[in-house]
Amino acid sequence: MVLTSLSPQESPSPAYICPLDQACSYLEEAARELKLDRSIIDILSNPRKVVTVSIPVKRDDGEVQVMAGHRVQHCDILGPYKGGIRYHPAVTLREVSALAMLMTWKCSLLGIPYGGAKGGIAIDPKSYSIGELERITRRYTSELIKDIGPAVDIPAPDMGTSAREMAWMMDTYSVNVGHAVPGVVTGKPLSIGGSRGREMATGRGVMIIVREALADLGKSLVGTRVAIQGFGNVGSAAALLLHQAGAKVIAVSTGMGGVFSDVGLDIPALKAYAAQNRMSIVGFPQAAAISNTELLTLACDVLIPAALENQITEDNVDRIQARIIAEAANSPVTLQANQALEARGIMVLPDILTNAGGVVVSYLEWVQGLSYVFWDEERVNRELENLMVQAYRQAIQQTKVRQISLRLAAYTLGVGRVAQAFTDRGLYP
Ligand code: NAD
Repeated sequence: MVLTSLSPQESPSPAYICPLDQACSYLEEAARELKLDRSIIDILSNPRKVVTVSIPVKRDDGEVQVMAGHRVQHCDILGPYKGGIRYHPAVTLREVSALAMLMTWKCSLLGIPYGGAKGGIAIDPKSYSIGELERITRRYTSELIKDIGPAVDIPAPDMGTSAREMAWMMDTYSVNVGHAVPGVVTGKPLSIGGSRGREMATGRGVMIIVREALADLGKSLVGTRVAIQGFGNVGSAAALLLHQAGAKVIAVSTGMGGVFSDVGLDIPALKAYAAQNRMSIVGFPQAAAISNTELLTLACDVLIPAALENQITEDNVDRIQARIIAEAANSPVTLQANQALEARGIMVLPDILTNAGGVVVSYLEWVQGLSYVFWDEERVNRELENLMVQAYRQAIQQTKVRQISLRLAAYTLGVGRVAQAFTDRGLYP
C-alpha cells in the first residue's frame, strides 16, 4: 500500500508507465519469494520522508522563475541516505520516489551501509546558463540544508548533474554550517575531496557486469557487438571501457540522435567529437545516422540502455534483437517488457546490479573523506571490481538456489537484507 500523498498520477499521458508502481511491483514479487510479512512490505513500499521545496531563481534577464525541487528519503535502516540529484524535464515526485526505493535495494545488494534517496528538479539544464544553474543548485541545497549531511543524506550526480553541481552543493552546505564539509556529497571534483575513478565508476561497473555475464555464457568482450543508448556520464564511460576491452561498439545515441558503424565506432574519437559539439554526436564522420528507435532494435549481442526509464516497452519489445540487455539506466525496461524478454530467453542484467558502480565508488569516496586518506585509482578500481563481481556472483547463486530470474534474485538479496535489518532493529517505539 502506497501512501495517498504519492498516489495521484502526475503525468497526463495515457502511455505513462508509473515508475513507482513498477518499483512496488518488483518489491511485492521479491517479498512473495521471501515470504515477508505484510507489515514489512507496507513499510518498505513507502518513503520515510518526502521533501518538496520551492526554488525561486533569478534568470539572467532579471525575471524570477519558481520551480519545485524534490528529495525523497526511502529507508535509512542500513545507514545514511544516499542517492543522485537529477535535472531533467520529466522529473516527478513519483519518479524520484521510485528511484529512491531502487537505491535502497542497490546499496543493500552491494553490501554498502547506506539507505536509498533521490532528488530532482524538473528542468532541462540545457535551457539555463551556467550562472542560472549555479543559482538553482545553491538555492535547492539551501532549502534542503536540514535534510542532508554526511551522516544523514549524501547526494551525488545523476542525469543532468555532474561534479560541478556537487561542488556548488558542497560549498553551499559548508558556508551554511560554517566549515568545510566534503562528506556531504560524493562525485565531487578531486580538488575538494572527490575520489579518483568516480567519473568512470558507473560505466566501469556496467563493463564488469557485462564481462561477467558473457563469461558465464562462455564468451568474452572481444568482438562482442554492443549498442548503447545515451552518451552521458554512464554511456560514454561504458562505451570507452568496452571499446578498450575489445568490444565493437556499433551504435551510440543521445537525445539529439545517434550514429552507427558496422565495423565499430572509434569511441575515443567520438568522445572528442561530442566534447567539441556540445555533447552531440550527430554528424560524426565515418558513421551513419541512426535514430534512438532504430538503435534499440538493432541486431547486436549486448544492448545497453544508458539514458532514461521506460525505453524498452510493450511497443518495441518484440523487435529487440540483442541477446543481453544491460540496464545501465534506472528502469529502462518496463515490467511487461521484462516479462516478454524473460519468456524469449533474453538475459536482462538488472539496474540495481548493473549500474551500482557509481554508488560503490561514492561510498569509497565517502570512506576516504571520513578517514582523510586518499587512494590511487588502481586501488579504487580494484575495490569496485571486487564488490561488483561479488554482488554478481551472489545474485547468480541466488538464481540457481531459488530458480528465479537474475532481476528477482538481485531484488531478493537487496530486499531480504533490509527486511532482516528491520527485524533485528525492531519497530520504534
Ligand atoms: P547524463 O545526463 O550524463 O547523460 C544522459 C544521456 O542520455 C545523454 O547522452 C543524453 O543526451 C541522453 N538522452 C537523454 N534523453 C534521451 C533520449 N530520449 N533518447 C536517447 N538518449 C537520451 O546522465 P547519466 O549520469 O549518464 O545517467 C544516465 C542513466 O544512468 C540515468 O538513468 C541515471 O539514473 C543512471 N545512473 C547514473 C549514475 C551516475 O553515476 N551518473 C549511476 C547510476 C545510474
